[in-house]
Amino acid sequence: MRERSMRIESASVEVLKIPVGDAYQAAGRPVDANWHVLARVRTSDGVEGVGYIVQPRGDFMRTIASGAAELAEHLVGMDVRDTEAAWQSLARRANWVGPGGLLHWSLAPLDIAIWDALGKTLGQPIFRMLGCYCHKVVAYASDRMWYSVPVDDLQKSIREYTDAGYDGVKLRLSHTAPAAEQAERVRHAKDAAGPDVTVMVDATEGWSYTQAVEAGRVLQEAGAGWLEDPIDHQDYIGLGKLRDMFDMPVTGGEHYYTLAQTRECLEARALDVIILDLARVGGITPWRKMAALGEAYNVPVCGHVVPEVHVHLLASVPVGDMVEYMPRSTEILQNMPEPSGGMMAPLDAPGHGLMLDEGAVTRFRL
Ligand SMILES: [Mg+2]
Repeated sequence: MRERSMRIESASVEVLKIPVGDAYQAAGRPVDANWHVLARVRTSDGVEGVGYIVQPRGDFMRTIASGAAELAEHLVGMDVRDTEAAWQSLARRANWVGPGGLLHWSLAPLDIAIWDALGKTLGQPIFRMLGCYCHKVVAYASDRMWYSVPVDDLQKSIREYTDAGYDGVKLRLSHTAPAAEQAERVRHAKDAAGPDVTVMVDATEGWSYTQAVEAGRVLQEAGAGWLEDPIDHQDYIGLGKLRDMFDMPVTGGEHYYTLAQTRECLEARALDVIILDLARVGGITPWRKMAALGEAYNVPVCGHVVPEVHVHLLASVPVGDMVEYMPRSTEILQNMPEPSGGMMAPLDAPGHGLMLDEGAVTRFRL
């Protein structure tokens, strides 16, 4: 293969705002759109790699895009095979505003776009390039079960998910509602889900330690089978105590930015399952290292949202646990993959395999 074909010739970044059909409340905030920062890198052979981050909020998304565009200029001339060199050079350039934070959010879409371009250049899917471990990953359903959704609609969503073959569904909890009310909601969810389906709950860091103890007890009694983000992710001691207190797994991790934070959390034995956020960690290149740490500490690894890309990563590690099926980019893709029978397979096509719907991208571009 000619060396020239591997070089990045240009890169670009855009911001998209995709309205959601039914507005809802997430972690105490109203959500009416999914915002994307979409990055593209093009090689001199005309291969285009695509990467994006998505947030159900608009705050700082233009700032992140602006940071990504600035970093992208420095990718020109780099070889798409040099994924680690590209990540490190961009991170070093802007490390005075990092590590983590906006720097990682700006890096992530570029890193994903480079991996996609590399896959397209080599004719290999990302899960193959990373070293395939399995061809399917367990998926759980996570959409349309917000606390603001009325109980009847919640039960309807759950029945649809269980009919589709999911073995797990995840409800968002409230930061302020009484623990008994939240436990009642879990009972309604269990009624709809049936005995064989795990009802998971996510408290989105809304509680104090004391609230978490009180709520955790009644939620466990009500049949919750997974308690996510009960308290601040930096309170490793508190998380570890909750983990000892409850039979249900205490999970979290989507708020960690760095390898060092991930190590601290695992060293403290704070969580039963660690959930990695592809965007917050800064893309695929650092994600793999964090997953390896999970393996070293014998802690299963999940992916936070973006299932269409996370499924490639989870399929490439022996500790890959579950993919969170929360599709937020269906509208801009021609081929959003879906789980079948509760399992999700990565697209078996070069790169991540996702094809943009350019008409939709134009429509939603700011
Ligand atoms: Mg969560």
